[in-house]
Amino acid sequence: MCISLYSSLANAENNSSKDFTVSEAEKSVSGNLCRCTGYRPIVDACKSFASDVDIEDLGLNSFWKKGESKEVMFKNLPPYNPKDHLVTFPEFLKKKEKVDNGSDHLKYRWTTPFSVAELHNIMEAANSGDSLKLVVGNTGTGYYKDEERFDRYIDISNIPEMSMIKKDEKGIEIGAAVTISNAIDALEKESKSSYVFKKMATHMEKIGNRSIRNSGSIGGNLVMAQSRKFPSDVTTLLLAVDASVYMLNGRKTEKVTLQEFLELSPVLDSKRVLLKVEIPSWTAPSGDDTEFLFESYRAAPRSIGNALPYLNAAFLALVSRQEASRKGVTVEKCFLAFGSYGGDHSIRAIEVETFLTGKLLSYSVLYEAVGLLKGIIVPGKDTLHSEYRKSLAVGYLFEFFYPLIESGHRICSLDSGNKHNNSHVDTVKSLPFLSSSQQVLESNEFKPIGEAVIKVGAALQASGEAVFVDDIPTLPDCLHGAFIYSTEPLAKIKSLSFRENVTPTGVFAVLTFKDIPQQGQNIGSKTLFGPGPLFADELTRCAGQRIALVVADTQKHADMAAKLAVVEYDTKNLEQPILTVEDAVKRSSFFEVHPMFYPEPVGDVIKGMEEAERKIISSELRLGSQYFFYMEPQTALALPDEDNCVKVFSSSQAPEYVHSVIATCLGIQEHNVRVITRRVGGGFGGKAVKSMPVATACALGAYKLQRPVKMFLNRKTDMIMAGGRHPMKINYNVGFRSDGKLTALELTMLIDAGLEPDVSPIMPRNIMGPLRKYDWGALSFDVKVCKTNCLSRTAMRAPGEVQGSYIAESIIENVASSLQMDVDAVRKINLHTYDSLRKFYNHIAGDPDEYTLPLLWEKLEISSKFKERSEMVKEFNLCNVWRKRGISRVPIVHQVMQRPTPGKVSILSDGSVVVEVGGIEIGQGLWTKVQQMVAYGLGMVKCEGNEKLLDRIRVVQSDTLGMIQGGFTAGSTTSESSCEAVRLCCVILVERLKPIMDQMMMEKSGSVTWNILIQQAYGQYINLSASTLYKPEYSSMEYLNYGVGVSEVEVDLVTGKTEILRSDIIYDCGKSLNPAVDLGQTEGAFVQGIGFFMMEEYTTDEKGLVVQQGTWDYKIPTVDTIPKHFNVEIVNTGHHKNRVLSSKASGEPPLLLAASVHCATRSAIREARKHSLSSNFIDGSDSEFELPVPATMPVVKSLCGLYSVEKYLQGKIKGQ
Ligand SMILES: Cc1cc2nc3c(=O)[nH]c(=O)nc-3n(C[C@H](O)[C@H](O)[C@H](O)COP(=O)(O)OP(=O)(O)OC[C@H]3O[C@@H](n4cnc5c(N)ncnc54)[C@H](O)[C@@H]3O)c2cc1C
Repeated sequence: MCISLYSSLANAENNSSKDFTVSEAEKSVSGNLCRCTGYRPIVDACKSFASDVDIEDLGLNSFWKKGESKEVMFKNLPPYNPKDHLVTFPEFLKKKEKVDNGSDHLKYRWTTPFSVAELHNIMEAANSGDSLKLVVGNTGTGYYKDEERFDRYIDISNIPEMSMIKKDEKGIEIGAAVTISNAIDALEKESKSSYVFKKMATHMEKIGNRSIRNSGSIGGNLVMAQSRKFPSDVTTLLLAVDASVYMLNGRKTEKVTLQEFLELSPVLDSKRVLLKVEIPSWTAPSGDDTEFLFESYRAAPRSIGNALPYLNAAFLALVSRQEASRKGVTVEKCFLAFGSYGGDHSIRAIEVETFLTGKLLSYSVLYEAVGLLKGIIVPGKDTLHSEYRKSLAVGYLFEFFYPLIESGHRICSLDSGNKHNNSHVDTVKSLPFLSSSQQVLESNEFKPIGEAVIKVGAALQASGEAVFVDDIPTLPDCLHGAFIYSTEPLAKIKSLSFRENVTPTGVFAVLTFKDIPQQGQNIGSKTLFGPGPLFADELTRCAGQRIALVVADTQKHADMAAKLAVVEYDTKNLEQPILTVEDAVKRSSFFEVHPMFYPEPVGDVIKGMEEAERKIISSELRLGSQYFFYMEPQTALALPDEDNCVKVFSSSQAPEYVHSVIATCLGIQEHNVRVITRRVGGGFGGKAVKSMPVATACALGAYKLQRPVKMFLNRKTDMIMAGGRHPMKINYNVGFRSDGKLTALELTMLIDAGLEPDVSPIMPRNIMGPLRKYDWGALSFDVKVCKTNCLSRTAMRAPGEVQGSYIAESIIENVASSLQMDVDAVRKINLHTYDSLRKFYNHIAGDPDEYTLPLLWEKLEISSKFKERSEMVKEFNLCNVWRKRGISRVPIVHQVMQRPTPGKVSILSDGSVVVEVGGIEIGQGLWTKVQQMVAYGLGMVKCEGNEKLLDRIRVVQSDTLGMIQGGFTAGSTTSESSCEAVRLCCVILVERLKPIMDQMMMEKSGSVTWNILIQQAYGQYINLSASTLYKPEYSSMEYLNYGVGVSEVEVDLVTGKTEILRSDIIYDCGKSLNPAVDLGQTEGAFVQGIGFFMMEEYTTDEKGLVVQQGTWDYKIPTVDTIPKHFNVEIVNTGHHKNRVLSSKASGEPPLLLAASVHCATRSAIREARKHSLSSNFIDGSDSEFELPVPATMPVVKSLCGLYSVEKYLQGKIKGQ
C-alpha cells in the first residue's frame, strides 16, 4: 500500500497538470488488500497528502486530537516534501548477494533487443528447437502460473517502435510494449479531440491495480486474450472502436483488424510479434443530425478493486435524430462488443449490429435485439453464473439504447464532452469518495490506559521492516517443505510418486506418516476435543488432507515438486464418503458435545407455540464458509538443536499447543521443544489449530533430516487446507403474535464440522449465545455437530456467533415479512428487557446498569437519523425503477469469556522493562494495551518522570519455554487477560519497590527518578522480575457485549450490484483500554463481516475440495466496497467492577454488526421484488425469499429478476 501511494504521489509530482486529490488518494490503494483495518485509517493516511483535503475530515489518528486547531494538526503531521523524499534503491540492498539459481541463469538466457530488426534477427537465429518467450511486464505469470521454463527470454520493452505513442487526426497508435498506465495517460490527453478516448481511459483505470497497470503492457494483454482466453477489458474496448493491430510475421509486417487478430488460427505463437495497435478517431460528421455515442460497462465483484469482470461491454453507435418529424432515434451504425463472459475471447455481436443498423429504435426493436443477443452470449460449459452473465449483456444493451427510445431524453453530443446518460430512468448522484467519522472517548482515569497510544510496531509494519517467520534469514543448509494433499474424500492410497517417475529438481526427501519416529505419534494438531493426524495413513479421509511433506532445497522447488506428485487412489470396498450434513444424519456421524458447550433451552416451547397467533413452520436456511485471508499464509521454521532438541518459529495463535503437538509427534519430552512466536501476520482464528500441522511437519523434517526446514504455504494450498468457517443448515419453527411479539422458537441445526473435531464441539454454545439477543418467549434447539469427509472446519473470528446472530435476524425478517410489518418495529418489540435478558443469559447478564443495548439502540437512532433516512429511502424507491434502497438497524449481544493467561514483567538494570505474556500479537493491538497496562501498573510507584515509562517498556516474543500455559489467543479477551496478568505482576513489583522508594523519599527530600530507584533496588538484590497466571473469577469470567449497526444500501437491478451508502455503528467498549486500537478492531471486524455477508464465496466441489483457490476467485472487500460513509462510535459506559479496568472486548463482536448490510440489501431486494411482481418481471411472492449469504452480485440479480429487462420491454410493448 505504501508503495502504491508513493507511486501515485510521484506520478502527481511528475505531472504538473494532475493534482493529487482526495479522489486520487483513494484510488491509489483501490486494488490493494488489507484484512485488518477495514481501510478507513489507510485511506485517511493517503488523503492527508491530497491538495483538496479538509484535514478536519480525517478520522481519529495518533497525530492530533479532535477539536484541536488546524495549525496544531498540521504541525503534528509528519512533514512531506516530494523533493526530500525521493526514494532511491537502498545501497545495502544493492550489496546483497544474488540469489543462487544454480546453473539456471546460464541455461535460460535473456536478450534485450533495441529495434524490431534486432528482435527479428534474434528470433531467426534461435535454434529451431529453442523455446522462446517475449516478455514485457511479465504480469501474465500472475494469472498463468506456468512451470514451463523457456530456453530464451526476450525483453521487448526497450524497442522504440513498440514503445511509442503516435497521434494524428486519424487516431492514436499505441506500441504493443506501452504500459496500460501510459496508454491511459495518452488517451486522456486526447479526450478533448474525442470523448471516446476519455471513456476508454476511465474504463482502463479499472484494470488490475496501479502496479499491474504500471508494468502490464497493452500488447501483453491482447496476446493473453488471443492465445490463452484471458478475460480482457482491453480487447472489448478496442473491438468497440474498431481498432486494428500490426504484427511482425517473419520479416513482414501485417495489419489486421482486432477482430481478425482474435480469431487467428492457430493462435498467436511465440514466433510472431504484436507491434502496435491503431485506434481510429471517432467524430460525428458535422452539420447534420447524427451523433456518436460511446459507453463502456464492467460488472465486477469489486468495481475498481482489482477484480476480473463477470462481463464487460463497450458500445459505439452513430445515431440520427429526426427532430423535425419527432419520430425518434435511428441507429445508423453500431459496434457492440462483449467480453469476459466465459467465451473464448471478446466478440462483436455482429448479428445484433446488423439487425439494429438502419432501424428506428423502439421497444420492440430493442426487445428483438435482446433476443438475438441472448443467442450470441454463450458462456463456456464450466462458466460460473452463466445465466447471470447473459442477463448482464442484456442489461447493458438496454442501458445503452433505452434512453434513446424514451422521448424525453436528449442525446448528448460526445464531441461536446458530455456524458451519454446511461442510467435509464433513474438519475443517481454517485458518491465521489469515502467519508467517515469516529467518536471515541479517551479516559484519563488509569493513564496511559485509555489513551489512543500508537500501536506498537506500526512503523515497522508500514515500512516492511517487521520480521515475520518467513523473514528470518535462512541458514545455508536450510531445506524447504511443501505439502502433497489428497484430492479424494475417502480412498486407499496405493502409491505416491512423481510425474513420469522422475524426482523433480531439488527434492531432498518425501516424508509421510511412515517417517514419524517410532516413539512418536501421527499427530498434527490437538484441542480440548482430541487430536488430528499430521498425515493421512493408508487411507485418506478427506480431500485436502495432508499425505506427505516434500522437502527440497528451495521453497519454489518444493512447491513445484508437490505439484508434480502423483497419488494413486483405490476406492474399492470402501463405503461412500460423507460429504453433506444430510449424509451425516443418515449415517449418524456426529461429534459428541459436552453439556458444558450445550446451553440449556429457555422456557416452555410447546406452551409458547400454543400462545402464538401466527407461525412459520419448517423454514430452512443455509450458511456457507469463509476463508481467513490473513496476509501471511501459514508459516514455520524448525531448527534441529543439540541433545535431541528442536526449536521452532511458528506463526501461531496457540504456541503452547504447537509445542505439545510437536513433542508428541516426535516422541520426545516437552522440554526438548521450544516454540517461538513474535507476531502473526493476521490470524482470525486460522492460525490456531491450523498452524499446528505446519509447524509440526517442519519439526518432523528438521528432526529427521537434522537440517533446518522452513515452509510457507502458497495461497492455493493454504486455501485448500484452511477449512474456514463452519457451513450449516438451519431449520426452524417460530411462533409469534400479530403485533410481531415472538412467543417461541424451535431450531434444528446441522453443522458441518468436517473430519476432525478441531474446536467444533463449542459451536452449539457459540451459536446460541448471540442468537438469544431477542426475547423469543421460549427457545429450544437441537444442534448436531456433523462429522463428514470434508476438511475440518475451525474457529474463524466470531465462530458460530456471527451465524447465531444472523440466524436471529433472518427469522425476524421472515416474521416481519409474513406480518407485512416494518422489520425494525419487530426487532424493537422483541429486544430484551433486563428481566428477559436474565432469563436467557442467567448470571452472564450482569447487573441491570450493564445492559446498555436499549440505550445504544436509541442513541444510534438519533445519530444515524434512522427515522428520517428510512422515509427518504421510501421516497427514493417510489421514484426509481431500476435502483432500490434499503436501510436496516441491527442489534448485537455477544457473549465472551476470559481465560487464564500468564504474564511476566522484568525490570532491567537501566530501568527498561521487558514483558512477556501468554497472548500473541496477531495485529489486534495486544502488545500496545499490555505496554500501556505495565506503564500504568509500574506508574503506581509514583516516581518523577513516570509519564515516560511507556517508552521504556518492550513486549517480547512468546517463547514456550520462557513462559508456559500461554493457551490460545482467541475469543476477543486475550488482550484484557494479558493486561490483567501483567497488572498483577506490576502490583507485586510495586510492593517490592515501595519500601525502597519510601526510604529514599525519607532520606532524600524531593523526588526520586525511576532510574535511581531501580539502581537502588538492584543494589539491594530485590527480585525485579514477577510472573503470574491470571485466573478470572468463575462468576465474572463471562460477560456480554452490545452494539448496534445501521446500514443503508442501494441495489442496481440491472447488474445486482450492491453499494453500501452508509453504515453507522455504535459499540459499547466499556472503558476502552486504547480507543484507537478498539476503533481499529471495530472497523476491521465490520469490514470482514461485510466480506462474509456480501462477497466471499468459499465453496467445495462434489469431492469436498475447495473451489476458490486464490485471489482471482476469492474476493475480500477493498476500498471500493466498504461503506461510502462510515461512522463509528465507541461509547464509554462507565464502571464495570468485574472487567479489567472496566474495559470490554472489541475483536470479534463488531463483525456481527455487518449483518445490517445484508438486512438492508434484503430490504432493497424486497422493494425491487414488490415492484417487479406488480409489473410481472418475476414469479413468486415478494415476501417469500431467502437472501443467501454471501449476497453476491449474481445472487442479488437473480432475486431481483434475471429476465427483468426482457419482461420490462414486453410490458412496454403491450402498453404501447
Ligand atoms: C492481478 C492482475 C489483475 C488483472 N486485471 C485485469 C483486468 O481487470 N482487466 C484486464 O483486461 N486485464 C487484467 N489483467 C491482465 C493484465 O492487463 C496483463 O497481465 C498485462 O497487460 C500483460 O502485459 P505484460 O506486459 O505484463 O505481459 P507479459 O506477462 O510480459 O506477457 C504476456 C504474454 O504475452 C506475450 N507477449 C507480450 N507482448 C507480446 C508481443 N508484443 N507480441 C507477442 N507476444 C507478446 C508474452 O510472451 C506472454 O506470453 C490483470 C493482470 C493481473 C496480474
